[in-house]
Amino acid sequence: MLERLRGWAGELGFSQIGVAGVDLGAAEPGLAAWLAAGHHGTMAYMARHGAKRARPTELVPGTLSVITARMDYMPRGTLDGWQAIEWQRLGDPRAASVSLYARGRDYHKVLRARLQALAERLVAEIGPFGHRVFTDSAPVLEVELASRSGLGWRGKHTLALSREGGSMFFLGELFVDLALPLSAPVDAHCGSCQACIDVCPTQAIVAPYRLDARRCISYLTIEHDGPIPQELRPAIGNRIYGCDDCQLVCPWNKYAQRATLADFDARDTLSDPTLLQLWAWSEAEFLQRTEGSAIRRIGYTRWQRNLAVALGNALHATGEVSIRAALQSRRDAAPTLVQEHIDWALVCAGPASGRA
Ligand code: SF4
Ligand code: SF4
Repeated sequence: MLERLRGWAGELGFSQIGVAGVDLGAAEPGLAAWLAAGHHGTMAYMARHGAKRARPTELVPGTLSVITARMDYMPRGTLDGWQAIEWQRLGDPRAASVSLYARGRDYHKVLRARLQALAERLVAEIGPFGHRVFTDSAPVLEVELASRSGLGWRGKHTLALSREGGSMFFLGELFVDLALPLSAPVDAHCGSCQACIDVCPTQAIVAPYRLDARRCISYLTIEHDGPIPQELRPAIGNRIYGCDDCQLVCPWNKYAQRATLADFDARDTLSDPTLLQLWAWSEAEFLQRTEGSAIRRIGYTRWQRNLAVALGNALHATGEVSIRAALQSRRDAAPTLVQEHIDWALVCAGPASGRA
């Protein structure tokens, strides 16, 4: 049965599937400690689901197994030496850095549809059964399920990591009321490495396997909807949507695979933009150019907030008059949240040096 499932999953663009059981009790203390420390930040939904996250049978009654799946997402056109290209972009204050996973189509839609298709293949084979699809879903302990079912191990940066695919993949799950044979976990291979901890611009990985989301740039630029803490703004650099640093530095990502699906191909406007090009977008342009992309979910206000921080850092680094003028030109029409970030950007950079 599992071999058939693997074959269908491969046809649907998945790189690997596994099967996890439903007893995640051993993960509960770590989850409780993470929540108690407030490391989930303003993601109240994390706390709201509480221990249910570690209890698949409470989330979907009747669940007997969880089919886990991973799907490589690096855009098909990614060049060899891609890490060096990304580091170069991160070092260019005028460039805008968008996380690699977000340059194509919204993965939620892609994975959900393909997991559903996988379930339908199984229904056609064995008849109706109860199932529910999840991907990047708050109530599900995705990395825990993935590591228990052999898709990889939990890296010190807290993401799932595979010898065959590094960490550049999405996870999804199919909760089923079928008792399937479980797949074996794989050994962890971080060893003494701690490159991800050392490279993190905001020291968000506070200990191996422990992430303080309140300091993580991915969280701050995507999930967090209020002002970005001022002390963290300089470290954000030109990262306007997510952050890949802990993955770029990870030695296992030399094995990261390109996607098989065209869905994750980078859109022209997001593959190598400058901050000023993106800052020039009106709300209508933002909505049109991010249609079908995960970026659209953060909305225009957060988008502008993130760009204002990055432009402040660019102004600080270059002193360019054009950046100062672009920030000033949008200030009065911007929402209060964005205005505050523009004001920070203009002040933090100090007086203009007069460079054009
Ligand atoms: S995504 Fe960026 S900010 Fe978050 S833990 Fe990784 S390196 Fe740090
Ligand atoms: S950078 Fe090193 S410690 Fe961090 S996840 Fe990769 S192998 Fe593990």
